[in-house]
Amino acid sequence: IIDIRDIKRDFKLGTETVKVLKGVNLQIKKGDYVALMGPSGSGKSTLMNILGCLDTPTSGVYVLNGKDVSVLNDDQLAEIRNKDIGFVFQTFNLLPRTSALENVALPMVYAGNSKIERVQRAEEVLGQVGLADRMDHHPNQLSGGQRQRVAVARALVNKPAIILADEPTGNLDTKTSIEIMNLFDDIHANGNTVILVTHEEDIAEHAHRIIRLRDGVIESDQRIK
Ligand code: ATP
Ligand code: MG
Repeated sequence: IIDIRDIKRDFKLGTETVKVLKGVNLQIKKGDYVALMGPSGSGKSTLMNILGCLDTPTSGVYVLNGKDVSVLNDDQLAEIRNKDIGFVFQTFNLLPRTSALENVALPMVYAGNSKIERVQRAEEVLGQVGLADRMDHHPNQLSGGQRQRVAVARALVNKPAIILADEPTGNLDTKTSIEIMNLFDDIHANGNTVILVTHEEDIAEHAHRIIRLRDGVIESDQRIK
């Protein structure tokens, strides 16, 4: 489902060029469950942003679902971000003045679904993440774990094949982290391809494959299940 060949990503800072990804090769099959690890600054988020079509590489090829992403225009990329990929962030990134239900339904507005479809589906996924009784709450009326559940529901709402999560438990305590990871386990069991970044070995062990990035290249790639 994902095929990356010799991806490089440089950032220009004034007159300097910082090489962050220095030639990453990676194949991920549909239904895999991958943990991406590595020291701070090794390029994990940079790679995730490329995988999620939030950023484009300086060079190299990214084939997603058999399509070369580099030749797509902005509208086509926006459609992939909306329909094919669900992204979960460390800081939840919810709209503050909007209910859980509306936050979750928002990607369906862009997908062009009717109001009735949006509400039905948003209720369904909020139920799936265990928030059936919190739909009308605003983010500031929810705990951190509940906010992350809303973000996971939002990522799932358009039924994307791939779920990307960049340190989804980074702002949560241990108990809440385990609950969120059980949710990712369920999502994987339902057939999704799941790729998540974490600093914690206990979290990474939920995945079936651990990839370690160091200084912009893959240092190891190990199947554990
Ligand atoms: P962490 O574990 O701390 O989240 P990370 O592995 O996710 O680290 P990245 O966020 O991918 O690391 O950053 C890798 C390097 O790229 C860092 O040195 C960072 O300063 C640099 N970098 C990332 N984004 C940019 C940018 N937009 N402009 C310039 N440099 C950037
Ligand atoms: Mg990061």
